[in-house]
Amino acid sequence: MNSSLVRAYVGLGSNLNHPVRQIRSALASLDSITATCCVAYSSLYRSKPLGERAQPDYVNAVAALDTHLSAHELLQELHFIEAQHGRVRDGDRWGPRTLDLDLLLYGDQTHEGEALTVPHPGLPVRDFVLFPLHEIAPELHIPGAGSLANLMASCPPPALQAMHAAV
Ligand code: ATP
Ligand code: MG
Ligand code: MG
Repeated sequence: MNSSLVRAYVGLGSNLNHPVRQIRSALASLDSITATCCVAYSSLYRSKPLGERAQPDYVNAVAALDTHLSAHELLQELHFIEAQHGRVRDGDRWGPRTLDLDLLLYGDQTHEGEALTVPHPGLPVRDFVLFPLHEIAPELHIPGAGSLANLMASCPPPALQAMHAAV
C-alpha cells in the first residue's frame, strides 16, 4: 500500500458468457477494489481474437484507476475479480475466457517479471488497447514506447468495431 495515489490503466476483455455483461460487471468490481477508485472508462469495442484458434470475437474496454495499492497488490485484486467472473486459469494463453484483466500501466513505473510486467508488453501493438486508451487519456506517454498518438499512427489499420458506452 502506498500513501500516494498512482494512476493505473486496466485493459478488459471477454468473449464468453455474455461478454458485454461481463465487462460492465467487471467495471463495477474495479470501482470497489480496496483503496482504489475508477476515474474513467472507455466505451466498448468488438475485436478479433489474437492467435489462430477459432473462438468468438472479444468485447474490450479500458479503465483508469487511482489506487493506493502497489502494482502487485492491484494485479492480485484483478486476478480475484477474474475468478469471481468465472475465469478458469489453465495456462492456456489467448484462449477463450469470461474475463481478462490486464494491468496496462502503473503510473510511469517499469517492471519486468513473469508475474508482472508493466507497461503490459501487448499495449504498444494492440488496437483493442490503444483506441480505448486514447478515448480516456489522449495525451498519455507510455514509458519506453513513446506517445500514445505515435503508437496509434504506427499501428496497422484497426480491425475494431466501436460498440456503445459501457453503461
Ligand atoms: P496477454 O498478457 O498477452 O494479454 P493473457 O492476458 O491471456 O495474455 P493471462 O493468462 O491473463 O494472459 O496471464 C498470464 C500471466 O501473465 C499471469 O500469470 C500474470 O501474472 C502475468 N502477467 C504479467 N504481467 C501482467 C500484466 N501487466 N497484467 C496482467 N497479467 C500479467
Ligand atoms: Mg490479456
Ligand atoms: Mg491477462
